[in-house]
Amino acid sequence: MALTGLEIYKHLPKTNCKKCGFPTCLAFAMALAGKKTSLDKCPDITEEAKIALESASQPPMATVTIGKGENQVEIGGETVLFRHEKTFYHPCAIGITLSDSLEKEKILERIEKVNKLKFERIGIPLQVNLIAISDDSNNQDKFCDAVKTATEKSNLPLILISNNPQALEAGLKICAERKPLIYSAKEDNQETMVGLAKKYSCPLVIYGKNLEELDSLSQKVVASGIKDVVLDPGTRNLGGSVQDFTQLRRLALKRGYRPFGYPVITFVNGSDLYQEVSMAATYIAKYANIVVLDRIEPEEILPLITLRQNIYTDPQKPIMVEPKLYEVGTPNENSPLLVTTNFSLTFFTVQPEIEASKVPSYLLIVEAEGLSVLTAWAAEKFTPEGIAEAMNKAEVEKKLSHKKIIIPGYVAVMKAKLEDESGWEVLVGPKEGSGIPKYLKGTWQ
Ligand code: SF4
Repeated sequence: MALTGLEIYKHLPKTNCKKCGFPTCLAFAMALAGKKTSLDKCPDITEEAKIALESASQPPMATVTIGKGENQVEIGGETVLFRHEKTFYHPCAIGITLSDSLEKEKILERIEKVNKLKFERIGIPLQVNLIAISDDSNNQDKFCDAVKTATEKSNLPLILISNNPQALEAGLKICAERKPLIYSAKEDNQETMVGLAKKYSCPLVIYGKNLEELDSLSQKVVASGIKDVVLDPGTRNLGGSVQDFTQLRRLALKRGYRPFGYPVITFVNGSDLYQEVSMAATYIAKYANIVVLDRIEPEEILPLITLRQNIYTDPQKPIMVEPKLYEVGTPNENSPLLVTTNFSLTFFTVQPEIEASKVPSYLLIVEAEGLSVLTAWAAEKFTPEGIAEAMNKAEVEKKLSHKKIIIPGYVAVMKAKLEDESGWEVLVGPKEGSGIPKYLKGTWQ
């Protein structure tokens, strides 16, 4: 169980020396309890206190890194069951299988398709994260060929899947410096797999046929010195998996049960595309940290990546764009000037609609703490005064020969006040972004 600030405080030197960067030992203890600092920041802590506090100050779920460099994936490290309690930190990684029994041509084709699974949503680049190479052929050479090809043709981190330790080691020799995830240590091979994970410094999946077996294996593997661990509770049906993942997450976060304090991997094999999407979506929501899929159709991946983005955005930090004057197309002094808030979803709805109108325009984005138009207006973050100030800062009068500004239809009520504040004529635009092309081509003209 995590200790409270007061329980931690009892073990501290209580000198209030400030060397840790906090004004008092109590403040440091509270920050430590909230996982906002680390024990090593206090140089005067005794060895005895260190031992007492170290296990309590560890995060309830370990963060595990797969791969190296710009595409490396971090999973786990979560501290709450529900996003609204605080936030989630590391999005569920999405992996795609690559069977070594495919013909070389098909392997190349599949890797090419996986590499192309990249999207952009509200200005954020999104992609799948892992390639899971599976030793289906039971042939070490074919497995190594597939590993080599994936290593050469893709920058994504890898999962190496085999029941054959020799094949795994041969694969690791090809790609160990990319820190692949080894799948998996089981009841009958855990010592060999632990040996490989140690020798090549790679994270290791522990597979248990049920939670009891997973518990006992996790204790053995971790006791043997492996820290980067991913758990697979073995269930493959929707109900059973959700039940197991929820138990693992609850026991790790609520009870501080260390053997289950690691990220979880699962594989999805739906009978059709719709079933696969619904299963994967459920696992992303509760509580898989890696979901490996067989299908690579963009129409399957895009909704899953979108769902993941929605779940893993920080509810305390709205997604914002920089408040400034944007040019859409190549506007001139006669072009329209539109204004809206710096909520990303608003910006990335309005900007494409202006583009679609083919009327080059200026788009003034006003600082509104990342809130949407109506919310910002109701919270007095999108005000006539704020817009007038943003117009001055962006020096819009120097760019335009006219003095007209278009406000969103939802805030028509601020027209008169904004005219007083800015001295400009205020036009009321459409309420929805979809009305912008018609408005710019018709009403504005
Ligand atoms: Fe207290 Fe240690 Fe911080 Fe000094 S460094 S204020 S002793 S917690």
